[in-house]
Amino acid sequence: MSAVGLPLWLLAELTYRCPLQCPYCSNPLEYAQIKKELSTEEWCNVFDQARAMGAAQLGFSGGEPLVRQDLDTLIAHAHHLGFYTNLITSGIGLTEEKIERFKHAGLDHIQISFQASDPLVNDALAGSKHAFEHKLEMAKLVKKYDYPMVLNFVIHRHNIEQIGQMIELSVALGADSVELAVCQFYGWAKLNRQGLLPTREQLKVAEEVTNQYRQKLQQMNASYKLIFVVPDYYETRPKPCMNGWGKVFLTVAPDGMALPCHAARQLPIQFPYVQEQSLKQIWYESVGFNHFRGDTWMPEPCQSCDEKEKDYGGCRCQAFMLTGKAENTDPVCSKSPHHDVILQAQQQAENEIAIDQLVARNSRNSKKIISVVGVE
Ligand code: SF4
Ligand code: SF4
Repeated sequence: MSAVGLPLWLLAELTYRCPLQCPYCSNPLEYAQIKKELSTEEWCNVFDQARAMGAAQLGFSGGEPLVRQDLDTLIAHAHHLGFYTNLITSGIGLTEEKIERFKHAGLDHIQISFQASDPLVNDALAGSKHAFEHKLEMAKLVKKYDYPMVLNFVIHRHNIEQIGQMIELSVALGADSVELAVCQFYGWAKLNRQGLLPTREQLKVAEEVTNQYRQKLQQMNASYKLIFVVPDYYETRPKPCMNGWGKVFLTVAPDGMALPCHAARQLPIQFPYVQEQSLKQIWYESVGFNHFRGDTWMPEPCQSCDEKEKDYGGCRCQAFMLTGKAENTDPVCSKSPHHDVILQAQQQAENEIAIDQLVARNSRNSKKIISVVGVE
């Protein structure tokens, strides 16, 4: 037991409900059939247990966490326990009154996501008119109430060329940091990958622009943080998945399923529910959380590789999605016998696919997918 780390970071996915329809959403494709949500009491109980086990950071996410009517109560409870709390939101459903109320309840930090810096592109991707306008207004209010604010732009082929405008918008809104993260290809983003993965050339230009802004900000002595997350599809080594499976991250899905990472639900592994087992049993003893701890599960080439302590063989979900077996080496690695699937994806990024050809994340499409693939 003692060799296992502590679940320092708890991600509470309060709901899969969301008023927006981002085609890169990382929620499960079959979310429409997962209707059950933990009650206020059950969530508070999860927070109590996680805090007692050493968890320090708590992210409220979703779906859109603002659709939960008990968010004030959950924030207040987490604050009372001593968590550092972060609301991860699209901003839709936020009001000045809520921003003020959450402040009184003890919320520490707010992250607002934008779909683009251009209102038309933003609203087309979000599937909602006026979403951009509302986000702008909310971002200003978040600063008015003196929260530290992170703005998050999910980057893909349709907005990567506006990266400079995104940085300028974030600076103008007084954000403390901006995260320009090329979408990770899980859930709906994987489904739409051919229309979302930027080309190598787009990525190169975006990195150059970001570096120019970094230099400018440095010259101005600005304390502003600029984070650019590149997709591993253009790398030859994978990222260390969640800093190691079951090492620091614990996600609880809306229905109470406990996961080592928010994308792991798709794996053919039985994960425990917080209604059925204590968090301690889940973290230390469950088959799901122990499955990929250590390295005994690793096949070659990872098993005898001198880099395995660095990247843990990459992402188990990516290995499963792209090779059909979660144990396989992440195909991003050039040593993987399946690396050709990554090279093919890079080539597909050259295809022209318009925004309106992307599959929107909504209940209608989710139900269609369930009926075609029969997800259980
Ligand atoms: S990515 Fe978009 S659709 Fe998915 S939960 Fe966030 S705002 Fe909603
Ligand atoms: S073979 Fe496995 S451990 Fe080695 S670099 Fe590739 S993914 Fe990492």
